[in-house]
Amino acid sequence: MSTPTRILVVEDEARIAEVVQSYLEREGHMVVRATTGEDALEDFARRRPDLVVLDLGLPRMAGEDVCRRIRAASDVPIIMLTAKDGEEDLVKGLQLGADDYLTKPFSPRELTARVRALLRRARSDDEPQADVLERAGGRLVVDSSRRRAILDGAPVDLTESEFRLLQTLARFPGRVYTRFELVEKVQGYQFEAYERTIDAHVKNLRRKLGEDARDPRLILTAYGRGYAFAEEQM
Ligand code: CA
Repeated sequence: MSTPTRILVVEDEARIAEVVQSYLEREGHMVVRATTGEDALEDFARRRPDLVVLDLGLPRMAGEDVCRRIRAASDVPIIMLTAKDGEEDLVKGLQLGADDYLTKPFSPRELTARVRALLRRARSDDEPQADVLERAGGRLVVDSSRRRAILDGAPVDLTESEFRLLQTLARFPGRVYTRFELVEKVQGYQFEAYERTIDAHVKNLRRKLGEDARDPRLILTAYGRGYAFAEEQM
């Protein structure tokens, strides 16, 4: 018997929070609601939710700060909600460690689909995957069982989405993946409109791997097609 999934919904607009709650409850989830960042952090510590839906525009403590503080303590999947729609905000949200991002107005159906995908992903992460990839002549190690990447002997602090992206690309060096394919691999669902989240993840991943954005050596851009991990130099 499984216990219901607990989802913390942090949203100060009651109407949106209610709709989100009713959709999530229909899916069989248990919903805890918070309207301020302070309450959200308290609920997070006390209720240990399995997933967090977090509005970026909160009174007093901003959603960005809430995200950062939750991420400092936990790997829980976080979906951000925002009224803004700009690449800048998207990158910022994902840099803070959010796993996914929805711009208001959004369809509650789409939110529940993404919640489902992230929960499925979180569960499949519990299954052991014994495989270790060594790339870039051994400089980069992608360890799937421990879910970590090591570059030049030092661990690289990656979010779950960034790790999945790296893992996918590094598995078959030289194979070009379209953004569409990567969305599916990284997020677990396909929505064409969200392919640009992949660009944001790639940008973050390159930065964390110490890549020169204008001349990346590991994560390559295949112009007009997608991305690929560099083939080993012989
Ligand atoms: Ca708000």
